[in-house]
This record gives sequence, structure tokens and C-alpha cells, in this order.
Amino acid sequence: MPGQVQQQADVSRDPGRVSAQCAWEALARYGLTPSPRNYDLLHTYFSGGNPPLAERLAPCLAPGGTLTEEQANTFYDACIAGTSTEARMLDGVGQLADVAGVLAERVAGSSKALAGYGDALTHWFGRLTARPTTDELMTALVAMISETEAARSRNRLLEEQLSTSAGHIAKLHRTLIETRREAATDALTGLANRKAFDGFLRDSVARTRADAGSTFSLLLLDIDHFKNLNDRHGHRFGDQVLRLVGRLLCEKTAERDLAARYGGEEFAIVLGEAGIGAGVALAQEICGRLRAQRLVKRGSGDVVAQVTISAGVAQYRPGETARDVIERADRALYEAKRTGRDRVCPTPQAAVA
Ligand code: GH3
Ligand code: MG
Ligand code: MG
Repeated sequence: MPGQVQQQADVSRDPGRVSAQCAWEALARYGLTPSPRNYDLLHTYFSGGNPPLAERLAPCLAPGGTLTEEQANTFYDACIAGTSTEARMLDGVGQLADVAGVLAERVAGSSKALAGYGDALTHWFGRLTARPTTDELMTALVAMISETEAARSRNRLLEEQLSTSAGHIAKLHRTLIETRREAATDALTGLANRKAFDGFLRDSVARTRADAGSTFSLLLLDIDHFKNLNDRHGHRFGDQVLRLVGRLLCEKTAERDLAARYGGEEFAIVLGEAGIGAGVALAQEICGRLRAQRLVKRGSGDVVAQVTISAGVAQYRPGETARDVIERADRALYEAKRTGRDRVCPTPQAAVA
């Protein structure tokens, strides 16, 4: 059930949760800021599967070791930001180039062999047209059969090699698609990440500029008093609330829209082909759904917390840059916070062209 937030008792059953708990404990133990980068660093380490990171971090996390903010930053840049998805992408492209090179070589070799086969046939055919004796005819036929057999078997080999290479290429293609998807996804909520959001918004602005008849709206949403929620119930609980909001936003958006995690407890929606009215209606629906949700402990059924969210909505104005529309939505969000939270503020209607 979306409203139920699982507590401590279930942690040991889920490796993802164990890594998350270890990450939070390490953040506290080494006095690191609980920023998404630091959390990601430690979570990746405890999840395993990143040997370069393990090599660097293990000595720091060993008994008596220390981990400073500066080290955490350096390790993140070296082992996560620069390597994970981008390096895997490059690695995939490299492998693809290798396969293509081998294939080109084999096809060239095979073309040469086929040309040789053609030459041999021409040679024996030439002998046939010069009134051959039965013996000569026999010799030529045997030679042509043997050349043809040899060409057939070379071709079979090439066919097998081509089929193996095609399988290899298809596998690489799947890996690259998955890697590209990961590079655009926020690991905690499964929504688009900030980088994917920036690209989508830029594209939406370009599309709207090219087609005067189209428009879109931008919603910025920020969970209210999220720091208090973390302080009172722990970061793990906070993470589960972030996932809950992520699911809600995903449920409320369609294919042409984009729901993203914009920052720590901030979310964004680009609502395709929607004016300010549709944007506000969606934001209000999300606010209402969250307000009505009761987060309860699975075991006791005790109500743990109520979470609310504030939102600012702006409709794209012709001529604006992506930054302009973000700034206006952000000012509207600030207004929603200033006037009491748990509400939606649109940019002034008169300002929308
Ligand atoms: P406001 O209503 O004004 O938005 O107050 P707020 O407490 O929500 O805002 P503030 O910026 O003071 O605090 C945001 C908090 O979000 C602080 C930070 O620790 C927490 N946070 C950021 N990223 C994560 C995360 O990935 N997981 C968890 N659990 N907390 C996070
Ligand atoms: Mg915030
Ligand atoms: Mg907040």
C-alpha cells in the first residue's frame, strides 16, 4: 500500500535497505553532510559492484579510519560521477567498434576468397570452351566441384561468424539502452534525474519556439518541512517519503510529460501541451493526494506523519529561455511557501501571453 512506510523490522530482508541503512549510519559516524552525493557514494559502496570505489573507500571505513568531506567529494568524482554510466557507455561503444572491425576484416577476407573462386571458375570454363577431351572435361569438372565446395564451406564459416557477431551486437545494444536509461534516472525515486529534466525542458522550449501554437507548463514542487520529518523519523523514513512522492508524480503524468527529481526534496513536472489552468489543476491534485495520505507503521498501524507539499506553476511565455521559466515557477513556489505551504501558487495569469 502506498501509504504504508515499512520500519526497522523489515530491513534485514531487503539488501537495498541494508545498503541504505549502512549508508546513513556511515554518514552519521563520519560526520558527513547527508547530501545526495555523499549518500549516493556510501550507498554505492555498500551495494557492492564498484571495485575502484571499494578500493578507495575500504581503508577509510576500516576501524580507526576517517572519511572527510573532501575525500568523499574526490571519490565521488573519480568513481561515480565520471565512471558509472558514461564510462560504461564508452566501453560499449568501444566494444561495438571492435566487433565492427572484426566483421569488416572477415567480410573483406571472404570477398577476396569469393573473387578467387570466380577466377578459378573462369579459368576452368575457358578450358571447357576450347573443345576439351573427355579427360580434360572430367578434370575441369572435378576441379570446379572442388572449388565450389571450398567456397561453400568458407561461406558457411562466414555465416556462423556473422550470426555470432549479430548476437554480440544485439546484446551490446541492449546494454547501451539500459545504460542510457540509468544515466537519466534518479536512483532513489526512479523518476527522471536533474540532467534528464534539463534536457527535456530545453527540448520543450525549442519545440514551443518552433511551433507558435504549442505550449507547456512547468510545476516545481517542494516537500514542506522535510528537514523536520527527517529529524523526527530518520533519513530512511525520509527516503521512503521521497519514493512515495516519486510514485505519485509518475502516476499523474503521461508520456508527453516529464516528472523529475529536481533536487533533494524538490520535484519538477514539465506538462506538455498544458496551459496554466491544467498545470494548477494537476498541482492541486498532487497536493490533495499527499495531504490525504496517512503514513502508518506497518506493524502497529500508528499514524507516523502527514506530509504536505507546496507547488509553483508557470506557463511558458514566448521568447523565454528555460532558465526564465524555471525562475518564474520558483518564485511562485516561494510564494506558496511564504503564504503558508501545502498550497499551489500560479504565476500571475495576466503575465501569461
Ligand atoms: P521547506 O518547507 O521550507 O521546504 O522546509 P524543508 O525542511 O523541506 O527544507 P530544507 O531545505 O530546510 O531541508 C531539506 C532537507 O531535505 C534537508 C536534507 O537533509 C533533506 N534531504 C535532501 N536530500 C535528501 C535525501 O535524498 N534523503 C533524505 N532522507 N533527505 C534528504
Ligand atoms: Mg527545498
Ligand atoms: Mg522543502
